Amino acid sequence: AWFGNERVAEADKARRVHDVFAKVASRYDLMNDFMSGGLHRLWKSSLIDTLNPRPGMHLLDVAGGTGDIAFRFLKGAKGEGHVTILDINDHMLAVGRDRAEKQGLVGRIDWTCGDAQSLPLPDRTVDAYSIAFGIRNVTKIPLALAEAHRVLKFGGRFLCLEFCPHLAVPFFDRLYARYSDVVIPRLGGLVAKDEPSYRYLVESIRRFPAPETFAQMMRDAGFETVTHRLMSGGVCALHSGWKL
Ligand code: SAM
Repeated sequence: AWFGNERVAEADKARRVHDVFAKVASRYDLMNDFMSGGLHRLWKSSLIDTLNPRPGMHLLDVAGGTGDIAFRFLKGAKGEGHVTILDINDHMLAVGRDRAEKQGLVGRIDWTCGDAQSLPLPDRTVDAYSIAFGIRNVTKIPLALAEAHRVLKFGGRFLCLEFCPHLAVPFFDRLYARYSDVVIPRLGGLVAKDEPSYRYLVESIRRFPAPETFAQMMRDAGFETVTHRLMSGGVCALHSGWKL
């Protein structure tokens, strides 16, 4: 029975995640700017700077949603890189495809609807793997990490941006908690007309492991030289690991 309940909880979470992103897809980009005060742009640019795109590089951007990481990567690779965007939600991918068309980037991107926990790619096929604000939505994080390790070539890099459950400074942590509990759901209600989805997002951040715990999960999946860098006072972290 315990096993059965766990399976039900997992299916519930997956369905909930799907519903949340299906509902917010059309307002997702606008909401990111509102909620982070534009900071998400800097965090994403840091990921791309760290990745240091080279012409010819093949990036797999998992939970790639509306394409923010992919577009920045292609700019960095001077139009000569290639990205596979994988996301479990067709609504998010559809918004991304429209954006790519407007930016003339269609030919350099593959769009794949799929699950981070079972990637539809052969072993050792990508130079880099990125996942920005996506891994906390995955039901079984160790499975997603194992899959990331499997599809990377030797010498390939894994980069993950994710929110941290707590800030290092207690005073700011309390302020941040109030911002998360009060402001984010209200903004979600006003701008995206969907307060419950934004409550879910706040909850999912609180449940995500602290950076040190996540670093250990990366090592357990086989990544080496695992490091992380806190950004904006520890609101989020950029995690890096290598397949060596
Ligand atoms: N990476 C984009 C960004 O930074 O703007 C989108 C992040 S958005 C907060 C999270 C994305 O994760 C959603 O598009 C959602 O559909 C996707 N997602 C959730 N669970 C997933 C899974 N198991 N496999 C692949 N994508 C998933």
